[in-house]
Amino acid sequence: MSNKKYVYLFQEGNASMRNLLGGKGANLAEMTNLGIPVPEGFTVTTEACVKYYSDGKKIGEEISREIVQALRVVEQTTEKKFGSKENPLLVSVRSGARVSMPGMMDTILNLGLNDDTVEGVAKLTNNIRFAYDSYRRFIQMFSDVVMGIEKRKFENILDQVKEEKGVKFDTELDANDLKGIVNKFKELYKKELGKDFPQNPEEQLFEAVTAVFSSWDNPRAIVYRRLNDIPGDWGTAVNVQRMAFGNMGNTSGTGVAFTRDPATGEKTIFGEYLINAQGEDVVAGVRTPQPLKKLQQDLPECYEKFMGIAQKLENHYRDMQDMEFTIEQGKLYFLQTRNGKRTAEAALKIAVDLVKEGLLTKDEAILKVEPKQLDSVLHPTFDTQELKKAKAIASGLPASPGAACGKVYFTAEEAKVHHQAGEDVILVRLETSPEDIEGMVASEGILTVRGGMTSHAAVVARGMGTCCVAGCGDISVDEQSKTFQIGEKKFNEGDYISLDGSTGNVYDGRIKAVEPEISGHFGTFMAWADEIRKLKVRTNADTPKDAKQAVKFGAQGIGLCRTEHMFFEEDRIPAVREMIVAKSLEQRENALAKLLPMQREDFIGIYEAMEERPVTIRLLDPPLHEFLPSEEEDIEDLAKEMGISYEELKASVDSLHEFNPMMGHRGCRLAVSYPEIARMQARAIIEAAIDVRRRKGYNIMPEIMIPLVGEIKELKFVKDTIKEVVDQIIEKENINMEYKIGTMIEIPRAAITADEIAKEAEFFSFGTNDLTQMTFGFSRDDAAKFLNYYYDNKIYEFDPFQKLDQNGVGKLVKMASELGKQTRPDIKLGICGEHGGDPSSVEFCHNVGLNYVSCSPYRVPIARLAAAQAQVKNPRQ
Ligand code: PEP
Ligand code: MG
Repeated sequence: MSNKKYVYLFQEGNASMRNLLGGKGANLAEMTNLGIPVPEGFTVTTEACVKYYSDGKKIGEEISREIVQALRVVEQTTEKKFGSKENPLLVSVRSGARVSMPGMMDTILNLGLNDDTVEGVAKLTNNIRFAYDSYRRFIQMFSDVVMGIEKRKFENILDQVKEEKGVKFDTELDANDLKGIVNKFKELYKKELGKDFPQNPEEQLFEAVTAVFSSWDNPRAIVYRRLNDIPGDWGTAVNVQRMAFGNMGNTSGTGVAFTRDPATGEKTIFGEYLINAQGEDVVAGVRTPQPLKKLQQDLPECYEKFMGIAQKLENHYRDMQDMEFTIEQGKLYFLQTRNGKRTAEAALKIAVDLVKEGLLTKDEAILKVEPKQLDSVLHPTFDTQELKKAKAIASGLPASPGAACGKVYFTAEEAKVHHQAGEDVILVRLETSPEDIEGMVASEGILTVRGGMTSHAAVVARGMGTCCVAGCGDISVDEQSKTFQIGEKKFNEGDYISLDGSTGNVYDGRIKAVEPEISGHFGTFMAWADEIRKLKVRTNADTPKDAKQAVKFGAQGIGLCRTEHMFFEEDRIPAVREMIVAKSLEQRENALAKLLPMQREDFIGIYEAMEERPVTIRLLDPPLHEFLPSEEEDIEDLAKEMGISYEELKASVDSLHEFNPMMGHRGCRLAVSYPEIARMQARAIIEAAIDVRRRKGYNIMPEIMIPLVGEIKELKFVKDTIKEVVDQIIEKENINMEYKIGTMIEIPRAAITADEIAKEAEFFSFGTNDLTQMTFGFSRDDAAKFLNYYYDNKIYEFDPFQKLDQNGVGKLVKMASELGKQTRPDIKLGICGEHGGDPSSVEFCHNVGLNYVSCSPYRVPIARLAAAQAQVKNPRQ
């Protein structure tokens, strides 16, 4: 027998025991000990839930015994008895994980009622109506929540009785009606389950506790956990608490309230209540609740008391509280308090106000805003009222946040044309490729059928701050006929849809979007984050426009400029193709000579946008076949355009074909085969820097980055190639310009041999997109297809392309950082994979001592806040 304790009376716990008692349980305990009126009760711990699972979904003997013991204590203190006809104890059973988690079982009220105790309650309260009203509610809730009988079936019975009686509201039913309903409910229960409604209160209780535990693992809860980084092994606690009745007449009631406005953060109490009602009536919208202010007239003493306690709780928790209360015949009880959920704007205002009010330090305030929440203050969002009315018709991955609405078009070209004609466009593609860039730029939103969170569409859309829903398997696109289908409904070119890139939902028609208002609190708050953090934040940007946007959002440099995106620009692609199909070095150099001035201009634009901030430019990375068409017809057209024969072009295309391009002829391998490409790029990088330095006086120190290195000799080969060019130019120009040559660490072999690699590399930038792909051995473009099965089977709990796999890929990052520093103590370390904008991954980067993270412009503020939070949690020098 273990001496673990699985059940805690409220008076035995406190707020610091959240992990064990869950949020609700810990706060009920804390309130109890603060002397706030809380109905008596106990919490079955999260560890009991974990044990329930490890025991094969059974509540073991130890736990059962402790539950019964705790129940006996509650019976003594309340002087009531479970199952007693004379003075029955009724309880509520509610779940409560460490963090509040929609998707799980929520609440069962009035547990303990049966055919006998209902009579006891009637006698005791002298209110038969009340007793049977409570009983019918209990049967319905228990049947629905614990046994899975559809709620609708009970509601139908209720509606039928009301109709027969010719009344509209539940409150118009009398005791006899309710008795009849109870009988009908019990009949329904028996019909559905083939057994009677349980009359033994202890059996009811154990069934309910079991239901809470098993709801921890229902599909909705699993999805919620994955989206919110909540580990599956936390488990949930269960709170069992004496019922306080809000439905005992006009001096009773129930309500919810926030100490500040959760939408705006305004310091004003915000709440609603219903007289003569139980909890679910407020939420269910059966009757319209009254504003809390009215309680002052209805029950002034309760109102005063409530206001006093609410203030006390806010001061005690030093945060905005979200409270549930019940008034039973003039006596006020608190059933819950927690730090209230709030919009990003409210979160920012409250954090800043609490510091001004002296309740929080800046460090503490920084922890009060969820970094991911900042998304919503950086992108347009749908009008919340409008969104409530809309119904999602499909959903995919929330690949890039924001709200977009427009007419659907199926090719990049059409998106561009219609955008130029002044239309709002949503680009719908099976998947996007680099050729779609212009269409993507022209679109309000992008919807793809295939692809994960690091698919081309997702990465590029996030970079541009364009809303994107990716991997939406619910729709089938027919690119030929320019239609797509969702279920029965067919959408044609020009039809309106709306996309919510923050949830992944797709809507039919138009939903009104509102521009975000970034209030002054945002600026104040972010300035505090910057004062605190040690980890720098750069951006991944390929254009001056993105670079400027990122600087506005606080980027301190560019961590990754992907030069291939520039190669795809419309005016470059002919020269790029010419370079690829070139038969001789001379031909290739001719083509490169055409590209050189264009690349130089690109870099000039970027340096000017970034002024003196560091800029890391990466040499060409993607496989060359991406620049050539694959369809017969397109090859034919292009051959004509290029003035070469179809056969010649087809031969080039065929020779470039690869079975696995992700592991093929890309990255520094291109520079090894065609050093002249690297030479041209190095020249453009350095000439641009010299030009901007001379014209603008900025002290620029270019950082040239070599991708996909796995072996020091290949790094040295490419480094020597570019160094020769760069040094020659510097000498010729007679200028004193420093530069750095470094590498990406994105192949496991590079991480493993990082001590050697650091002999040549002056900086490392962890390319965790490829590093994740190659460490797991699954393709970043295809993994989305099967990862869902891994989540369902709890093999993985999150997408490793979004959130760094700290145990595996992270271990390589940590090891390579240490090895790199052994060789070169001042080596600069950064990350430029998508993880650079993910809060938990940013925290990891802080903890392993990286110098910076680099992420898409719209995630820069998120990374800044995550870095500050990491510093508060784990201070580093
Ligand atoms: C990476 O692999 O993490 C990276 C940043 O490079 P890319 O996404 O361009 O392959
Ligand atoms: Mg890469």
